[in-house]
Amino acid sequence: MSRIAYVNGRYVAHADARIHVEDRGYQFADGVYEVAAICRGRIIDEDGHLERLKRSLGELRMVMPMADAPFQMVCRETLRRNRVRDGILYIQVSRGVARRDHAFPKNVKSALVMTARAVAWPLGADDDEGVQIATVEDIRWLRRDIKSVSLLPNILAKQEARDKGAYEAWFVDGDGFVTEGSSTNAWIVDDLGRIVTRQLDRNILGGITRAAVLKLARQNSIEIIERPFTVAEALAAPEAFLTSTTSFVTGIIGIDGAAIGDGAPGPVTRRLRALYLDYCRGPGSNMAARPHAAVA
Ligand code: PLP
Repeated sequence: MSRIAYVNGRYVAHADARIHVEDRGYQFADGVYEVAAICRGRIIDEDGHLERLKRSLGELRMVMPMADAPFQMVCRETLRRNRVRDGILYIQVSRGVARRDHAFPKNVKSALVMTARAVAWPLGADDDEGVQIATVEDIRWLRRDIKSVSLLPNILAKQEARDKGAYEAWFVDGDGFVTEGSSTNAWIVDDLGRIVTRQLDRNILGGITRAAVLKLARQNSIEIIERPFTVAEALAAPEAFLTSTTSFVTGIIGIDGAAIGDGAPGPVTRRLRALYLDYCRGPGSNMAARPHAAVA
């Protein structure tokens, strides 16, 4: 089946989907995006993704290209036309098309693109063999809470990790603390079985999966500590894991070549993965609203 993309008001064949050469997303990375997981026909945490998109736009003084109801209709129509029941919805909003000039253009409509593709998610708790992490210096800008399409440091980090045979990179700040992964949030489990993840501020993206996992942990009496942790602490921790829309909850079994725990995803990680996958499969998969509630 041929894929269909939504581009500024039209549904077009994916192969013919084009944006203008002076789209500011293309020229300046002047745009934001969202990636949502689709499970059994439902957009997981649709409200959270919509809210984060609006927040990112607001921080960059952009507005939604359309009202919520038609926007959500375009999301559904893009999924329908691509026959996605399990997969990914990608949404990108740029400041629009204008003659190249750094300052904001006046009276320009923001540009909206959506694509969707099917993915056969591994939705069994036992599907996770765990992944390796490579640590890299965090060279990013200071507004990582904005889900900007400006992802150069992230793709360089991911490639460095892949070159080292690792699945994901963990960014480490100047004080030795892990901020987050190149496209995931970072977690460890301490000796008391408590889960530790960095608090929300401008240093990390407020992951939608992070927010859902925190709620699930609270509901299931798993203790949470939101604070930074160092690489040394992660190396000594019994478990570590990562979360994201497309990786769900995935165990970490090695960091820079050193094993974590006994080299397999540990019990707390496995429990959280099972809880999260149940949540994705279930009817109420829309709990992660207000992912940035704690960020000023
Ligand atoms: N951190 C960064 C830098 C990301 O790019 C992402 C997702 O792309 C995440 C964290 C995880 O966010 P989410 O759970 O909303 O996918």
